[in-house]
Amino acid sequence: MAAGDTAKASSLKDFHARSIADREGFWAEQAALIDWHQPFGRVLDDSRPPFARWFLGGRTNLCHNAVDRHLAAQRDAPALIHVSTETDTERVYTFGELHREVMRMAAVMRSLGVRRGDRVLIYMPMIPEAAFAMLACARIGAIHSVVFGGFASHSLASRIDDASPVLVVSADAGSRAGKVVPYKPLLDVALELARSKPASVLMVDRGLVPFDRKPGRDHDYAPLRERHLDADVPVEWLESNEVSYTLYTSGTTGTPKGVQRDVGGYAVALAASMKYIFCGNAGETYFSTSDIGWVVGHSYIVYGPLIAGMATLMYEGTPLRPDPGILWRLVEKYRVTVMFSAPTAIRVLKKQDPSWLTRYDLSSLRALFLAGEPLDEPTARWIGEGLGKPVIDNYWQTETGWPILSVAHGIEKTPTRLGSPGMPMYGYDLRLLHEQTGEEVGVNEKGVVAIVPPLPPGCMQTVWGNDERFVQTYFSTVPGRLVYSTFDWGIRDPDGYFFILGRTDDVINVAGHRLGTREIEESLSSHPAVAECAVVGVADALKGQVATAFVVLKDPSQAASDDARLALEGQLMATVDQQLGAVARPSRVHFVTLLPKTRSGKVLRRSIQALCEARDPGDLTTIEDPSALEQVRQAVGARV
Ligand code: ATP
Ligand code: MG
Repeated sequence: MAAGDTAKASSLKDFHARSIADREGFWAEQAALIDWHQPFGRVLDDSRPPFARWFLGGRTNLCHNAVDRHLAAQRDAPALIHVSTETDTERVYTFGELHREVMRMAAVMRSLGVRRGDRVLIYMPMIPEAAFAMLACARIGAIHSVVFGGFASHSLASRIDDASPVLVVSADAGSRAGKVVPYKPLLDVALELARSKPASVLMVDRGLVPFDRKPGRDHDYAPLRERHLDADVPVEWLESNEVSYTLYTSGTTGTPKGVQRDVGGYAVALAASMKYIFCGNAGETYFSTSDIGWVVGHSYIVYGPLIAGMATLMYEGTPLRPDPGILWRLVEKYRVTVMFSAPTAIRVLKKQDPSWLTRYDLSSLRALFLAGEPLDEPTARWIGEGLGKPVIDNYWQTETGWPILSVAHGIEKTPTRLGSPGMPMYGYDLRLLHEQTGEEVGVNEKGVVAIVPPLPPGCMQTVWGNDERFVQTYFSTVPGRLVYSTFDWGIRDPDGYFFILGRTDDVINVAGHRLGTREIEESLSSHPAVAECAVVGVADALKGQVATAFVVLKDPSQAASDDARLALEGQLMATVDQQLGAVARPSRVHFVTLLPKTRSGKVLRRSIQALCEARDPGDLTTIEDPSALEQVRQAVGARV
């Protein structure tokens, strides 16, 4: 049976049921969505749970599937569209050109001694060479470890030590909101700090800022590329279970974990997701506003769209420059059909004039996918109505590589439900488990979102270099049973829609009542003055914990005076009283102009909570803007 035939299954629920009941049959069909140099034998080996190996003995290559495979039919079609509003540059690479550039980069890497299985650390801004470098690694079987550009030396050094790369690929600088951010000095310090010393550093010189070169170690890319202009570097055919890359989680809840991924399973999972979830077709354009430093950037800027034969739009810039219409102008210009962003980006736009959403021709756009954080109803409604397009929430993790919950319109036109990221995607044996007993909870009951192994193709194989930590971290929530915990709370309605209630460590206990901070945040967000907010539980001698809220207003001048602040605080408390009851009412509502977030845009509740309790805010290596934490410190210092 051809891969396409499975799409004829009558409903998402049937499709899902079959993916669990007949895993091998199901995934063998999906495997036909990619090219295999050598067919696989067994589809699944899960004889050593919770470890799973997919498509055993099959040989394939991610770069071949993303690039070479499309040369025959689409050589002159756009593959990589690069737009930088930071440097005012736009460049379209066809599949043919992308192929050439990737081979040049691969040849340069080889000339610097990179071999199959070696690690290459990529610390780069959103420039085409970053994608070339990832694809070049995939091509020659080197393992890439992309570190978000803009992480400071300390975070970078720890990742260098974890990966022990033979090569670091970097650039002179990034640019953010018009400000040049030099990378090389940070990299140099990181290389000093790191115990592991890569032999070579390959520098892409964008001409943004001069930098020092360490003789013998540092090489400029441009002259090396010149030397390999006609390079013909064949792909390495890798066994499906060889390692394609490692990547760190965002560090929202603590120390980031190094996620390790395979080759064949990942390629198949992405190809299937492009077909069933994102519904992207060859020849169309995909636009994800994420960064290559995150999992969304790996799966849905670089590999997923290209595997599907789509052009991928890679964007260096913010949603607000040169004006708040920039994302939509790009949709119009490049006829984007599928767009992927994060709630945090939409909340930024929400503070702007909504007329920006309707100034451009968005007729090509079919849907906007949002992931990364809970999508609150007001934000979902605002953007959905503003654009007049379906907004599709999807829930997943760095660990899984592709959506766990969503709607899969390539299978069935299941309606979306506000506040819900949807239903379990095929391949995930998803359960909601009682926190203490590990038993499954019923409809409308809160439980920990868990996956019964084997994890489907595309999910992490293990923690890089640490099988023990993989099992310990993810599979020890239910004693005596190997079940993967997402560390998120969820609830399921009678129709099978899931709702994510927040992280398991974001639950607070007020006078014996267990409340999800997310529920209180949702309630506060429904007030028209609120742009975004964070609620944390703060230790209280009397009640155990009390909720404390930090609110960013759409218009900060609304809280300019003490009287205005008090009045608004009262209104917000009344909103929560009405919607959730007095027990959930925050004891305090602080007004700030910025929330502390990770670089990937997730609210650092654990750090806010620590400051509220006069504790050390903990590991801050992934924080976006430390001044946000300063605002929290001042707010609680002044009032607590
Ligand atoms: P760390 O694991 O290091 O603490 P992190 O969990 O923030 O960091 P990611 O893998 O980037 O790292 O984020 C995955 C998490 O983001 C999910 O577990 C969930 O908490 C949250 N999340 C992602 N998408 C959604 C969504 N659509 N709705 C609600 N929450 C989401
Ligand atoms: Mg996580």
